[in-house]
Amino acid sequence: MNIQNIGVIGSGTMGNGIAHVFAQAGFEVSLMDINRMLLDQGIATINKNLDRQVTKELISKNDKSAILSRISPSTVLTDLADCDFIVEAATENKQIKFQLFKELDDFLNPDVILSSNTSSISITEIAAQTSRADKVIGMHFMNPVPVMKLVEIIRGHVCSDETVAATIELCKALQKVPVESNDYPGFVANRIIMPMINEAIFALMEGVASKEAIDEIMHLGLAHPMGPLALADLIGLDVCLSILNVLHTGLGDPKYRPCPLLKRMVASGNLGRKSGEGFYSYS
Ligand code: NAD
Repeated sequence: MNIQNIGVIGSGTMGNGIAHVFAQAGFEVSLMDINRMLLDQGIATINKNLDRQVTKELISKNDKSAILSRISPSTVLTDLADCDFIVEAATENKQIKFQLFKELDDFLNPDVILSSNTSSISITEIAAQTSRADKVIGMHFMNPVPVMKLVEIIRGHVCSDETVAATIELCKALQKVPVESNDYPGFVANRIIMPMINEAIFALMEGVASKEAIDEIMHLGLAHPMGPLALADLIGLDVCLSILNVLHTGLGDPKYRPCPLLKRMVASGNLGRKSGEGFYSYS
């Protein structure tokens, strides 16, 4: 299958990075978000990140213009009708994703592969919303997308080998490294990292140490590139809470229960970098 036009849904933390890397690899990208302001913010972030690449002399100014010209923003889902491959990166919410996949299945050519960047929601359940469950797959990029090499590839229960092969080929075209996982809550990356982040928030809530101390201990002591609280701010506290809820419900083990402090921060709208306030202040 010749894949040239990519539809990316959601222009938030992940979606704008995904649109960026596809456009940089020469694909035509339709970037869709229901929220015009967040769509504009997503394009502004791509612009800023491309500027950084120009400053570092990784790309030229002409490359930057060419990359931007390959990204078409839209707030209308059916504008993706001519796409050959979809990466859904909308809010981590089952009902939003189920509805999106139902609608995409209705108007897209039956050959089109529908991938989701979900961090934790069952690919098999998402696939079951469509009439092409064999062509639905998890394509889990890491944050920040332009920097991180890994893409976790998640096979739904009836995902075909052809779908996996085409998705792996796309990852390679983006110069990313695909690694396969089966479809269980949180897959591999989040099943391991989220309990660590959650435990760091419990440690903060219980006064074991200050936020700076917790992060410094994990950064210097375990050679993590950043501490777990700074990482939670980068991921988005709402996203962390959604993933922990999926792990808790899906695996039924109380060890995944989200920390009350995390719940309280999300309820207050302090979501980390994207809202300007989280464990740290970004204003
Ligand atoms: P985000 O909150 O930054 O952005 C989500 C975007 O989706 C928003 O701009 C919102 O307007 C848009 N949206 C919501 N409903 C929509 C709809 N029906 N149609 C179109 N757009 C819609 O979230 P994010 O962090 O970018 O996460 C997106 C997905 O990527 C989630 O599934 C998340 O689990 C996953 N993910 C996140 C990270 C991370 O570090 N943040 C890492 C890997 C995967």
